[in-house]
Amino acid sequence: MKIRVIGGGLAGPEAALTAARLGCAVDLYELRAVVDGKPRLTPAHQTTDFGELVCSNSLKSETPNTAPWLLKQEMRRGGSALLRLADATAVPAGHALAVDRVEFSRRISEAIAAEPLIHVIREEVTSLEQDGDTACTIVATGPLTSDALSAEIERITGSGRLAFYDSISPIVDAESIDMERVYMAARWDKGTADYINCPMNRDEYERFLDALLAAEAAEAKEWEKLDYFEGCLPIEVLARRGRETLRFGPMKPVGLRDPRTGMTPWAVVQLRQENLRADSYNLVGFQNHLKFGEQAKVLRLIPGLENARFLRYGQIHRNTYIQAPLLLDETLRLKTRPSILFAGQLSGVEGYTESIATGLLAGIYAAAIAHGEEPVAAPRRSGLGSLVNYITHANPKDFQPANITFDLLEPLDEAERKKIRDKRERHRIECERALEAFDGWWAAIGMAAAAPSR
Ligand SMILES: Cc1cc2nc3c(=O)[nH]c(=O)nc-3n(C[C@H](O)[C@H](O)[C@H](O)COP(=O)(O)OP(=O)(O)OC[C@H]3O[C@@H](n4cnc5c(N)ncnc54)[C@H](O)[C@@H]3O)c2cc1C
Repeated sequence: MKIRVIGGGLAGPEAALTAARLGCAVDLYELRAVVDGKPRLTPAHQTTDFGELVCSNSLKSETPNTAPWLLKQEMRRGGSALLRLADATAVPAGHALAVDRVEFSRRISEAIAAEPLIHVIREEVTSLEQDGDTACTIVATGPLTSDALSAEIERITGSGRLAFYDSISPIVDAESIDMERVYMAARWDKGTADYINCPMNRDEYERFLDALLAAEAAEAKEWEKLDYFEGCLPIEVLARRGRETLRFGPMKPVGLRDPRTGMTPWAVVQLRQENLRADSYNLVGFQNHLKFGEQAKVLRLIPGLENARFLRYGQIHRNTYIQAPLLLDETLRLKTRPSILFAGQLSGVEGYTESIATGLLAGIYAAAIAHGEEPVAAPRRSGLGSLVNYITHANPKDFQPANITFDLLEPLDEAERKKIRDKRERHRIECERALEAFDGWWAAIGMAAAAPSR
């Protein structure tokens, strides 16, 4: 029985090379091709090569005991073919792993061509139905999955289970918020008062609105010209609909009485804790498509944020991904159709390394299925397991793709955290435990004896 891998970006080739290394025949499909002498490409890819890096050439930090380092260490221990080729084509980049993108891509194509078990088919896949020879299918068609396949994924997973955009709200450094000007509260006092509320009076709201309406939008690339979802409209689009629209939307003050005055403000901007360490907060519902400089100017008009340091600005860009928390099990299989696996950006992870990481896992799981075995999920405590734990257990309501960070890793227990105050030492221990968990799993599934990647 063979494995069908759809997508020749990062996750697909990694999955194909992994499954082949484990003795499985693979059909690898890729839409990009030269047709009648002309290249057929996606809106972001510039070549027909496998493993093309569409933007930066960095696979992130190599500093020991950081989360991206941990993920790469586990991938190296797991024999990741693409990471080995990234190491082989690395260029000087300080503490990061950056690659010569042309050479990286060339070597991946070479590895695929040299693998007799991989059969490359340059065509757009539009159906996920399988023939009798196929044990399973890995869908790794990335953030720019073709329209026809997107429609097929929606047909199989159910309407509304596929997102097409990342709507990113700005994030501020907690230390730069003026806590004298804001108050903590939950709407209608439901639950704990975890939100920071920035109250505005009428004048402040009007001034903010004028500045927002005058702010310049970031230019959209051709393929980014967006039809926004009603549910995640940019604030500047809402503002253009009417002067009251924001007050009935993301700046709604009802149920948010200021305990200091006993009054409900005219409008409120809510900030939600971004990470467990509570050192950063995001502006709830403030996704926008404004130029970064304009955002800084406009958002600093919000009371309490006059001197805000922005760790990330709002953005909206094309990204196709499934509702993994509802759809996938911990071995990346569709719960309703276990012969279909998802990997890469489409599965809800973000970034080159994370995409390769899920490609590696999908290749291992698919090989188990093709050999008639039940795949065994990477342990929660490992970096790889943490990444999958996030996409399969995040809140489906506001699920957003994520990079690997310490927030996704299993935290030390309360007693250990109290004992170890130094953050760097805590991270070192978390990484050590993750690697141990990875090694245990790797040995248990019999992979330690498997052939190394070519
Ligand atoms: C413009 C842009 C810039 C980005 N910049 C960065 C960055 O700087 N750093 C970073 O870490 N991440 C970046 N990303 C995210 C990046 O795309 C992913 O990290 C990574 O490429 C995802 O790997 P993947 O294998 O899931 O998808 P891809 O690498 O996109 O591979 C998917 C492949 O599937 C093919 N395909 C699509 N539909 C079909 C079909 N129906 N049939 C057959 N084949 C199909 C595509 O042609 C493509 O080759 C960026 C994304 C975009 C769109």
